[in-house]
Amino acid sequence: MTKTLIQHADVVTLDAAGTILRDAEVAIDGERIVAVGRAPAGFQPDEALDATNHVLMPGFVNAHTHAPMTFERGWAEDLPLDRWFNERVWVVESQLTDEDVYWGALLAVAEMIRGGTVAFADHYFYMDRVADAVETSGLRALLAWCVFGEENNIGTDLQGTVDFVQRWQGAADGRIRTVLGPHSPYMCEPRFLARTAAVAARIGVGIHIHLAESQEQVDNSLKLHDRSPVEVLETNGVFDVPTIAAHCISINEIDQEILARHEVTVVQCPNCHMKLGMGVTPVPALQAKGVNVALGTDGTASSNDLNMLKEARLAALIQKLHHRDPEVMPGDLPLRMATQNGARALGWPDSGTITPGALADLILLDCDQPHWRPRHDLVANLLHSAQAGDVSHTMVAGRWLMKDRRLLTLDVERILWEAEKRALALVGGELSVVRMYAA
Ligand SMILES: [Zn+2]
Repeated sequence: MTKTLIQHADVVTLDAAGTILRDAEVAIDGERIVAVGRAPAGFQPDEALDATNHVLMPGFVNAHTHAPMTFERGWAEDLPLDRWFNERVWVVESQLTDEDVYWGALLAVAEMIRGGTVAFADHYFYMDRVADAVETSGLRALLAWCVFGEENNIGTDLQGTVDFVQRWQGAADGRIRTVLGPHSPYMCEPRFLARTAAVAARIGVGIHIHLAESQEQVDNSLKLHDRSPVEVLETNGVFDVPTIAAHCISINEIDQEILARHEVTVVQCPNCHMKLGMGVTPVPALQAKGVNVALGTDGTASSNDLNMLKEARLAALIQKLHHRDPEVMPGDLPLRMATQNGARALGWPDSGTITPGALADLILLDCDQPHWRPRHDLVANLLHSAQAGDVSHTMVAGRWLMKDRRLLTLDVERILWEAEKRALALVGGELSVVRMYAA
């Protein structure tokens, strides 16, 4: 097992006390951190890394995304949600092949590693190919194959997704975990949700689903089922298993109490919510009730990038603006949402802090740059000044996936070429455009 010693780092530990260490060492043995502050006596590293002028912190966890949607980046701009989906996104998704998914996912994981993401929860189609991309990249991921109901699915059905879950559970040395992925209470019939929940309970996995994205969805649900979308999920047993619920924008007091009563993580996607004009997840109210709230980017067709540092910043800004109160979402809270809260939701509760015994899922940011000075408050520097491009090193399970901005597990040149070629072909574009860019 490889032993790594990182020296002279400023460490934002995100431990319970919010400890920050200057000029510290972090010792890593195998996949875990064994010491923080000073290396243990007699620790003989295989590699020592000088992290002078770098901040070390836990890597980000993107708790809701659709990684292969990178091929739709910039393809559906300035449209209301229904037109965004029906006129642009679905036109492309309905003709996807598993090979498109593979290259779209590789493009996504390359971007994620470069932005300091160490794990993500994905919800898409042809998920075996996303799993292949995760395995190659060295990242962690919680994967769900999205289904809509008994029919009209893409590439599989509920039983097929159960086979997928069992095929990949614990794969890639435990870096891949799997759950079921019914799309949402507005696309799935209650009977199908109940069946999915029963299957999830039987095979011992959780569920990743979209929930309460708009008031219109709530109104329709009340009309059709006499219940809110949150109540529909509760009555059909979805919350009897650990659930990741993306969005949760239009939820009332009763819904919030239901979420708090069960093992539900709410994932806010601030960039997507702002860009599509969706509204604001009531994060402070949910947190006051004890709900675990994590952050996600959603797919790049809506948020255009997979930048978790930006999501953390927007998570702070959107609540401060919404409540017209600079004191909400204070300190390192948005960073915790973007790291350890997501890790907990994905099933790695021992990731997301820089503490002895924690999984070595960490990043370094280069702060030898103008926008990092002065360093009165490293948390404020990280949250409000740092850029994703400042991430210089990314480590998952004690293994470097990026060093000095160089990706170590992926052939980036090939990925850029294949991903753009396939994206253009999907929308009927020309390869010659790619050549022009490359010239
Ligand atoms: Zn989504």
